[in-house]
Amino acid sequence: MSALKKPNASALPKPKPGILDISPYVAGKSKTKDAAAKILKLSSNESSLGPSPKALKAYSEHAAKLHRYPDSSVLELRKAIAAVHGLDAERIVCGAGSDELIGLLTHAYAGEGDEVLYSEHGFLMYKIYAQGSGATPVTAAEKNLTADVNAILAKVTPKTRIVYLANPNNPTGSYLAASELKRLHDGLPGDVILAIDSAYAEFADKADYSCGKELVDMTQNTVMLRTFSKIYGLSSLRIGWGYFPAAIADVLNRVRGPFNVSGVSIAVGIAAVEDVAYTEQVKKHNNIWLAWMSEELTKLGLLVHPSIANFLLVEFTSPGKTSAAANVFLMDRGIIAREVVNYGLPKCLRITIGTEEENRAVVDALRAFLA
Ligand SMILES: *Cc1c(COP(=O)(O)O)cnc(C)c1O
Repeated sequence: MSALKKPNASALPKPKPGILDISPYVAGKSKTKDAAAKILKLSSNESSLGPSPKALKAYSEHAAKLHRYPDSSVLELRKAIAAVHGLDAERIVCGAGSDELIGLLTHAYAGEGDEVLYSEHGFLMYKIYAQGSGATPVTAAEKNLTADVNAILAKVTPKTRIVYLANPNNPTGSYLAASELKRLHDGLPGDVILAIDSAYAEFADKADYSCGKELVDMTQNTVMLRTFSKIYGLSSLRIGWGYFPAAIADVLNRVRGPFNVSGVSIAVGIAAVEDVAYTEQVKKHNNIWLAWMSEELTKLGLLVHPSIANFLLVEFTSPGKTSAAANVFLMDRGIIAREVVNYGLPKCLRITIGTEEENRAVVDALRAFLA
C-alpha cells in the first residue's frame, strides 16, 4: 500500500460559509473544582423544584415502551398543550427543546444573503443558528437592558427574514408589554417572521405581559416558542413547542425529523402540562423568592436588574468587587452562577432562583464576598 498522501487543503471537506465563524454555545457550568463539594447549580435557569411527581411517574411507566418508536405526529402532547393553553393543536409543532425549533425555523426561512435580527443582549442561540444557516446575524441596541422596538424596526432591511425576541429575555430578565409586541409586529413587513421566544412565560406575573399567542392567532407572520425546560423542570428530556400560523407549521413539519420528540418526552410532557396545580405552585415559589432575592441583593449594594423570569441579572458596580471575582468566590462555595461576558454584560452574573436553602446561601455568600 502506498503511503498516505499529504492532503492539500482544497481537497478537504469544508463546511458551508458561516459555520466556522460560530462561537460554540457555552452551557452553564455544572461542576466546581472540588468534585466532592455539594453543588448549588444556579447557572441554567432550571427549576430548582424539579418536575411534577406526576411527570416522574409517567417517566417510570414509559420504561415498558422503550422499544417502540414514538408517535411522529406528537398528537397527544400537542392536544394536551392546546387544552391547557387554549390553542389550536393543529398549529402546534414540538421539538427537542425549543432550541431545535429555533434551528428549524432559521434554517427553513433564512440562508446566505439574508439577515436574522435580534436585540443586543438577546438569547445567543439566535446568532448561532443564523450563522449555521449562512445568514447574517444583526443586532439592535437596547435601552436599559430592554429590547427597543424603534431600534429593532430601524434595523429591518429588505434582507431581514426573521426577528427574534425573547420575552422576557434571557439573560436580562426584562420584557416588552403586549402593546409593544403588537407595535413591533405592525412595523414589520408581512414577509418577515416575528419569533417571540416565551421560554419563561409561565413565570411572568404582570398584567401587561403576553406570551404572544394572540398575535400568532391574528397574523400570518408571528410565531411563539415555548419550552418544558424551565418551569416544568424537564431540561434533560429536551421538550419544546411552538405555536404557528398554519403555513409555517406546515413548513416545520416538512423539515423536522419524524421522531424528533422521544416517546418518553411525549408521555412525561403530557403529565407535566396537565398538572396545572403543580405549575402554579412552582410559579408561586418563584414569585416569592424572586422578590426576596432582588430585595436582599439590592440591600447588599448590588445593582439588581428587574426580572419577570426565574433568574436575576446582578451587576457588580464596585471596582474592587468584580463579577469575575464574585463568580470565583461563589464557585469556591459550591455555588454556580452564570457569567454573561459573551452576552456583552461583563459586569454581571446571572443567578437562577433556587430553593429557599439555595437562595439564602447565595445571599450569605455574596454578603461575605462584599464585606
Ligand atoms: C432556555 C431557553 C431556551 C431553550 O430551551 P430548550 O431547553 O431548548 O427548550 C430558549 N430560549 C430562551 C430565551 C431560553 O432561555
